[in-house]
Amino acid sequence: MAKIVSVLPRLFRLPLAEVLSDAKHGDHTHFELITATVKLDDGSEGTGYSYTGGWGGHAIKAMIEHDLTPFLIGKDATQIEQLHDQMRWHIHYVGRGGVSAFAIAAVDVALWDIRGKRSNLSLCEMAGGVSRTCKAYVGGIDLNFPLEKLLSNMDQAIQSGFNGVKIKIGRENLEEDIERIYAVRERIGSDTTFMVDANYGMSVDQAISAIRQFENANITWFEEPIDPDDLNGYRIISEQTGFPLAIGENCHSIHDFELLEKTKAFKFFQPDVATCGGITTWLRAAAFAERNGISVCTHGMQELHVSLLCGRENAGWLEVHAFPIDTYTHQPLKLNQEHMAVAPQLPGIGVTFDWDKLEAENSLVS
Ligand SMILES: [Mg+2]
Repeated sequence: MAKIVSVLPRLFRLPLAEVLSDAKHGDHTHFELITATVKLDDGSEGTGYSYTGGWGGHAIKAMIEHDLTPFLIGKDATQIEQLHDQMRWHIHYVGRGGVSAFAIAAVDVALWDIRGKRSNLSLCEMAGGVSRTCKAYVGGIDLNFPLEKLLSNMDQAIQSGFNGVKIKIGRENLEEDIERIYAVRERIGSDTTFMVDANYGMSVDQAISAIRQFENANITWFEEPIDPDDLNGYRIISEQTGFPLAIGENCHSIHDFELLEKTKAFKFFQPDVATCGGITTWLRAAAFAERNGISVCTHGMQELHVSLLCGRENAGWLEVHAFPIDTYTHQPLKLNQEHMAVAPQLPGIGVTFDWDKLEAENSLVS
């Protein structure tokens, strides 16, 4: 028993080096980082976090501050799974879905950080400890880049040691998408793993047409071609093409993954700790995927997900996302000589923020 005595949420707005675009969210000029530092009555503490694509951070921080913190004070921090479910029900009536999942995630990650530090275990060990390394690919947000810039970014990814890349598709003209896909495949060679992501910018018919035109480019998965809630649409795409589909970054609870699995349309799940409600949900989603023969991958926050993915038996690919959260930590993601990402072996979540660097950006909003 160790009681929670305080929760301190903070919101940072961090600039991106250049404007990044995808099919549905438009231009990203910055992203938001919401941290939550939890302290216990025995003096131990941990910090968790979630992030956004640039909007919603104030609501997430406010939910932690006004709704979760008063609920958490005095509770036993060692009962993470129980607390996670209680937090979910505490704000379920108004918060079912996005903002609450992001708020719960920041606290949940902090509690896992404390659990690891108190038991001297790394997150990789707590997640199952299967391996110390996992496959990793560069996930570009590059729909707005001219072809030459897209291709030079591919060169950069390969030169940095990666053997997997993903590009955005969903430009107004499908022919352009197809041209870009084949140009990238030619540039990266046949040995590099290659995925595409439409960020739900297509209709069912457009997605099927796209698949028929890029199916000779050796694409490992097609990610979120259509609205992530259009389960029947995904079923139709899968039935008509048999193409491997990936989804998960918009799942806000384990039940979202369960509904998706019922379609039998997906070969890859990509749970994101920030969007699904924390490490507790991520591990449940990974176990669920394992039981159903679906490969578990990740979306975003590579500095944290590397430990979770390395821990799992059916680990797929770690996305190295274009929001560089890890550059604001003391443990930026590391690759080994075999193109594999390496999990940090520190007690706790293995992510500690460089607060000076965060504040030097003049990015603290509140
Ligand atoms: Mg995506």
